[in-house]
Amino acid sequence: MVNRKCIGCGKIKPREELIKITKEHNSGNIVIEPNSKTFGRSAYFCYNKECQESALKKNKLNRALKTSADLKGLLNGREY
Ligand SMILES: [Zn+2]
Repeated sequence: MVNRKCIGCGKIKPREELIKITKEHNSGNIVIEPNSKTFGRSAYFCYNKECQESALKKNKLNRALKTSADLKGLLNGREY
């Protein structure tokens, strides 16, 4: 089993229970739940609003992905 850490609450969880966000290595595009061919720096957080908001707060997610993209806008309107 592959475990990953949620950058919102900091808990270690199975990969399947987390949302994956990847910054594509080549293009720098931010991809939510990329397919297995997407290669790049990734971050994970739980399927709930609290962790999503916590991950976005203080640019945690931006720092984890080393991007200055507007991740809040990207995630807005998505139901988790
Ligand atoms: Zn979490």
